[in-house]
Formats: sequence, C-alpha cells, structure tokens
Amino acid sequence: MLRLQKDLQLWIEQEINEFSQNCGVASQWREPLVAVAAAKDELFAELKQAVGPEHQLPEDMLPGARSVICYFLPFIPAIANSNSESRRASLPWFRAYLETNQLIARINSRLKQELEKMGGKADFAAATHNFSREKLISFWSHKHAAYIAGLGRFGNHQMLITDRGSAGRIGSLITDLEITRDTRPDQEYCLNRAGEKCNRCLERCVFGALTAAGLDKEKCYQICLKNVDFFKSENADVCGKCTTLVPCALKNPVDA
Ligand code: SF4
Ligand code: SF4
Repeated sequence: MLRLQKDLQLWIEQEINEFSQNCGVASQWREPLVAVAAAKDELFAELKQAVGPEHQLPEDMLPGARSVICYFLPFIPAIANSNSESRRASLPWFRAYLETNQLIARINSRLKQELEKMGGKADFAAATHNFSREKLISFWSHKHAAYIAGLGRFGNHQMLITDRGSAGRIGSLITDLEITRDTRPDQEYCLNRAGEKCNRCLERCVFGALTAAGLDKEKCYQICLKNVDFFKSENADVCGKCTTLVPCALKNPVDA
C-alpha cells in the first residue's frame, strides 16, 4: 500500500504553478485538496442507482483498478465573488471554468506520467461533457467519486462542499496502484443538513431550477445553455449562481 498523498499534492501544486505562470491564463486557484478512494469501495456500485445505470465502475474505466485519486481546485475569492451579480455567468467565472478544465487535463497527464514511472497504469474521464445529453447523467461523476474519497459532503445545491468550499472544480483519475485511502468525514458540511437554517443556494437560483423539492436538471441545463449563446462558446454551459455568494462557496460553513 503506497502512501502517496503528499506526492500527489506536490505534483498537482506544481502543475497549477506551471499553468498559472507560463500559459497566459487569467484564472487563479487556491491550494488544492486531494483524497483517494479504494476502487472497490462499495459506494461506486451504488452510483448506478444514485447517478444512473450508465455510470461506470472504476474497473470499467481501467481493468485492475485499485485506487481513485480525486482533487478539488478551489477558485480564488475574486472569481467566486465575480459571479454574484446578474443572471448571466460572469466573465471570470466562465473563463475559470474553461481554464480549469484545461488545468485538469494537464494535472491528469502529469499524475498518469508519475504513476507510470512507479510501474502503475492510470486512466481518466474528461473533466466535463462526459454525460448523456438526453438524460443529463454522467458516465463518470467526478463529484460523486470525490465524495467517496472523502473530499467533502453534498450540500442542498447538490454540489460537493469541501473544506475549501464548493466554488471550484473537481478532477479524478483511476490507477491500478494501491494507494492508502482517505476516510470520509462523518459530519455534514451543509448548514441545512447540519440542522441550521440556510437555504441561501435556493434563493440564489432565481431560475426555479433548484427548489426545496430538489434540482430540476433540465431547467438548470437550459439556464447553462443561455451562457453558451451569451459567450458564443459551446463550452460555456455554466451558471454556478448557487455556489457563489453562499456560506459554503469558499469554506465548510459548519466548521467555521
Ligand atoms: S447555501 Fe446553505 S443550504 Fe445551500 S448548500 Fe450551502 S450551506 Fe447548504
Ligand atoms: S447552476 Fe444556476 S440554474 Fe442550476 S441550480 Fe445553480 S443557480 Fe440554478
């Protein structure tokens, strides 16, 4: 069993620095969080019910899979706060979405390389657009994998809340190396779920997609598609109003 958490953290931070300093990107990220799940964790099988029957198991993605490495790249407060006004996604938010997807591709290539040097194999799903358009169901849900790894807990907005909040993006990759797994937190990270009254994310969704009854995925996606038209980019299907200007945007509010 390999204890690689510190190395993973270092490789991810090196890629963030390299990307920030040498690739002409506008976005910036706070210190990443990393956690590892066992590929055989029984919760992966449950995702076929929780997410959909099309959801793949780690073994489907990489025969002989033993570990699933997950990481959260938290946006800096200026990016999260920029998305507080207007019904449209802000330009910094849209850019951060695109640039973080590029960053995740780079991080995954780097991690794959490092793991291969150690004699392992690794594979990964694209950071985004890996879902069925018809059913809006992911073939591989990075946020559910991150939950299983122990990176955080789900909030009422159905996003993962980590120790550095929910405004950011999640990457994951699967390897056949056996890495020490992390433990899942027992306590809730969402104020509502912890028994305090919040519901700020519901108020932030002025589009009626997120209500006390849950998330209407189709309505949410239609709002995201409006930003595709607005930014004239087919990759601009973003919104994120429910993860900005909320107590869980930048931290775990229950722990605060
Ligand atoms: S805004 Fe409040 S209710 Fe919504 S997910 Fe965050 S902590 Fe939970
Ligand atoms: S992403 Fe936008 S449309 Fe979707 S639930 Fe959040 S605020 Fe509502």
